[in-house]
Amino acid sequence: METTEQILRYDREHIWHPYTSTLDPLPVFPVKRAEGVYIELEDGRRLIDGMSSWWCVIHGYNHPVLNEAIQRQVAEMSHVMFGGFTHRPAVELAEKVLGIAPKGMNKIFFCDSGSVAVEVAMKMALQYWHAAGNPRKQHFMTITKGYHGDTWNAMSVCDPVTGMHSIFSGVLPVQYFINRPERRFGEACTEEDFQELRACFEAHHDEMAAVILEPIVQGAGGMWFYSADYLKEVRRLCDRYGVLLICDEIATGFGRTGKLWAVEHAGIVPDIMCIGKAITGGYMSFAAVMATDKVATTICSENPYVFMHGPTFMGNPLACAVACASIELLKSYDLGRMIGGIERQLREELAPAANYPQVCDVRVLGAIGVLEMKEPVNMGVLQAQFVEKGIWVRPFGRLVYLMPPFVIQPEELSRLTGALLEIVQTI
Ligand code: PMP
Repeated sequence: METTEQILRYDREHIWHPYTSTLDPLPVFPVKRAEGVYIELEDGRRLIDGMSSWWCVIHGYNHPVLNEAIQRQVAEMSHVMFGGFTHRPAVELAEKVLGIAPKGMNKIFFCDSGSVAVEVAMKMALQYWHAAGNPRKQHFMTITKGYHGDTWNAMSVCDPVTGMHSIFSGVLPVQYFINRPERRFGEACTEEDFQELRACFEAHHDEMAAVILEPIVQGAGGMWFYSADYLKEVRRLCDRYGVLLICDEIATGFGRTGKLWAVEHAGIVPDIMCIGKAITGGYMSFAAVMATDKVATTICSENPYVFMHGPTFMGNPLACAVACASIELLKSYDLGRMIGGIERQLREELAPAANYPQVCDVRVLGAIGVLEMKEPVNMGVLQAQFVEKGIWVRPFGRLVYLMPPFVIQPEELSRLTGALLEIVQTI
């Protein structure tokens, strides 16, 4: 397989890409290498990355510190089973993550990917109520327009319409959905904003194991930023009615929203928290679920006295080693200044789009900038136009958005926003 054309032909004929058809796949662009915020295509074109490869690559590509960490670990061992063994990279990572996690998160379970972390978190909640002698609590409550992954139970708490899984709705476990909070981030909630939430707790708390949601920023289900008051009220109601709170920080964690964790915007601590994506700086698939001592102790105090999960690649040493290095890098940044700078620039440079007839909303939080269009965009066409302009942006539905690597320089970010607006105006 020598030429780019051969690679593309084989790819087209045999390989499934995310959410695509094998009969009529959207074009894919062959990448040769990537460095910093630049992705280089086989034909030599260099694109400024506006996606951080779906929230992960916060330090940029091909980072010397992360490369070094992984190489050092490869020389020792790439993998060893976690049943019956432990190792320095896993223990060091646990210490680092729990050291920066919201206070109260004291136990950590390593797993393979974000979706698996969500499965693990939901299972923890079910095992908790089983152990607590309340097996009726088997359902989950969530808000619409959420996204938690593509595995079975994760799908059941994704938005039934925008969550990309609507054809499975008849066979997925039925959960309680209430409308997403319409009150925006930065605004105060009124009593009315809590009505549906309170009514659902009142009616169903006996059957509710947990509330699961993405704190403050809903990602793939709608790129929506909601009021911190709402999250505070969810925490209050969970405590009042005896329901666990699972926060899915897989997309928001590690600084993306301007705080290390999105829950910090509301000053709350969940009972169970999922993290993933940026945990390895985008080097490999890895995730974790953290829990309070109370959750862990309850689960392990009753039959079956263990937590029933143990994936093959649990605590993979390569992933742990690179995650340790990634967290150290993150700690070395002045995160407030770094993300604050990106936020200010995104706000300023995306603002003109609010006047475009095609755009119905422009919103920015932390290192996330969103243009919500009035009509769904043609992803294939738009993506090709962005590539022509030297930027990498992958829109979906009515959303065209940026979440660049944190290390992007002001001049690079200006090129990204400039090219984005130029194309969006032509839609
Ligand atoms: N939760 C959230 C909030 C996510 O954004 C995603 C991925 N987009 C997931 C879970 C699933 O993670 P993964 O793709 O690693 O399975």
